[in-house]
Amino acid sequence: MLLEDKVAVITGGAGENGLGFATARLMASLGARVALLDLERAEPAKAAAQLGAGHMGLVADVTDKASCEAAAQQVLRQYGRIDALVNNAGITQPVKTLEITGADYDRILDVSLRGTLYMSQAVLPAMQARQSGSIVCISSVSAQRGGGIFGGPHYSAAKAGVLGLARAMAREFGGQNIRVNCITPGLIETDITKGKLTPDRKQEIADTIPLARLGSAKDVAGACVFLASELSGYCTGITLDVNGGMLI
Ligand code: NAD
Repeated sequence: MLLEDKVAVITGGAGENGLGFATARLMASLGARVALLDLERAEPAKAAAQLGAGHMGLVADVTDKASCEAAAQQVLRQYGRIDALVNNAGITQPVKTLEITGADYDRILDVSLRGTLYMSQAVLPAMQARQSGSIVCISSVSAQRGGGIFGGPHYSAAKAGVLGLARAMAREFGGQNIRVNCITPGLIETDITKGKLTPDRKQEIADTIPLARLGSAKDVAGACVFLASELSGYCTGITLDVNGGMLI
């Protein structure tokens, strides 16, 4: 199997309808052992149990460096290695530029951008020791087109920051066979979007997308598996658009 004996860590992975959990499910079905990291209220252990035996769920807050390090150490103690990290945790807030407070800015950037840095820092030493690893960072089409449907400008900025951070890490760690790539999902139906669109509005949006539909969590999971696995062994610093053609 493609991910046999591989260990994957996925942040923000416990939401049943989220991109992280769909990725975990696909990775587990391909032979990986998966560690789902998420906030306590998301009940990561319960989510991991749904994947079957041989996976773990850990409470971890990606905005807290010590929490990221503790989670990475626990995965290493239990599984002995980390082959892939998916920096998926993220939050959004649909506000306009003039409405953004300092606290809003900190909150949004802390989860997507600081979280991507802290979690990458937590797993990189183990990847360096094995001279092997893949880090996948979930950015957003909002970073590319300057605003999304649900994310404010601070969300676009955070996700654009993720693209820069990922490319810088790709350059820094490429010589150690550690690859760092990004995915920029378009509008994907998850809890972030659930209940926020009327059927008419959904159709209106779908009509602007070349593939004529919103994305599903599975669409993003497939891209994550590609970038986490050796299938993408000569890709680093790339941005993989999973948006139905939104930017054509
Ligand atoms: P989601 O809300 O289901 O997933 C986000 C997860 O992050 C949740 O499980 C949440 O508990 C977790 N989280 C939040 N703060 C955290 C923290 N401090 N530490 C650890 N975990 C934390 O939403 P989703 O749509 O699956 O989003 C996954 C990622 O994809 C996010 O980064 C989001 O910005 C990005 N994204 C989503 C879409 C979309 O249309 N759904 C589009 C582009 C990008």
